[in-house]
Amino acid sequence: MYNRRKFIKISAAGASLAALSTSKIARATILNQAAGFPIVISTWDFGIIANKEAWKTLEKGGRALDAVEAGVRIPEADMKNHTVGRAGYPDRDGHVSLDACIMDEFGNCGSVAAIEDIAHPISVARLVMEKTPHVMLVGAGATQFAVEQGFKREKLLTPESEKAWKEWLKTAKYSPVMNIENKQHAPGNQYNHDTIGMLALDAKGNISGACTTSGMAFKMRGRVGDSPIIGAGLYVDNEVGGATSTGVGEEVIRNVGSFLVVELMRQGYSPEDACKEAVKRIIKKKPDTAKEIQVGFLAINKKGEYGAYAIQKGFSFAVCNAEKQDLLVPGKSFY
Ligand code: ASP
Repeated sequence: MYNRRKFIKISAAGASLAALSTSKIARATILNQAAGFPIVISTWDFGIIANKEAWKTLEKGGRALDAVEAGVRIPEADMKNHTVGRAGYPDRDGHVSLDACIMDEFGNCGSVAAIEDIAHPISVARLVMEKTPHVMLVGAGATQFAVEQGFKREKLLTPESEKAWKEWLKTAKYSPVMNIENKQHAPGNQYNHDTIGMLALDAKGNISGACTTSGMAFKMRGRVGDSPIIGAGLYVDNEVGGATSTGVGEEVIRNVGSFLVVELMRQGYSPEDACKEAVKRIIKKKPDTAKEIQVGFLAINKKGEYGAYAIQKGFSFAVCNAEKQDLLVPGKSFY
């Protein structure tokens, strides 16, 4: 959990909180210290509206699982969000293919990867968890399952996404490039690739998580990132806590990032320190690659303490609890 010193340090680093008056900082700090539960946290600034939706379930004493599913459906449905859900940018062949997974307090999990023509992959992932003996369905099989479950089959490529893809094709040499938030002029930067990972701790003290994305813009057809991979993009152990990730999925998969963060919390690390250690693991293995990429982790423990850490500056996460519904915290970073 953030103590006052830490919180003020974070606030000083973050432009988004720079305008807060001293009294507001002090108030936010007190709320953080007393975070407890219920509470919901999620990646990036679009996490604020997603958290608000999740909160509707949590404030009524509802289940964390229902909260995270409802929460991440907001960015999934947002026609202006080109990194999650129905308006996501397509792969390099022009197909919108989505990844999502969900995990509950009993260790149940469900996932879909490279699913096409279905707007809410998180809800399909939940049904994979609840209605099949499997954890993961991919590609055409995932779409087939969704249609069988009553989901509408629809073409997802929006005119804006199509335009951006065609623009990209002109100069891309058919090679996808991940953006880095702190490199304004990096190739691909305008095609932001952020994922929503959400973790909730409900009034009963149970944790669930959800993660959903359109993945890397203009990726190779069939490419799957970390987001639908249990243990990589998301992991929940109700005895310990939960973690989720955003950024270059390949590096998260290589390090089984979210599982690592949860296991570090089991060993006594705070959520922030566990995220930092996982980031350092990625950097240590590939120091040259790490300088050029972004990965961020977000974690929560059973007490409702939370924290995050990223390779590069620019990562932020949203927090929502009884006291404050729209807190945006700039994540600390290695570089
Ligand atoms: N982690 C996602 C992926 O690799 C993308 C992101 O979060 O930016 O597909």
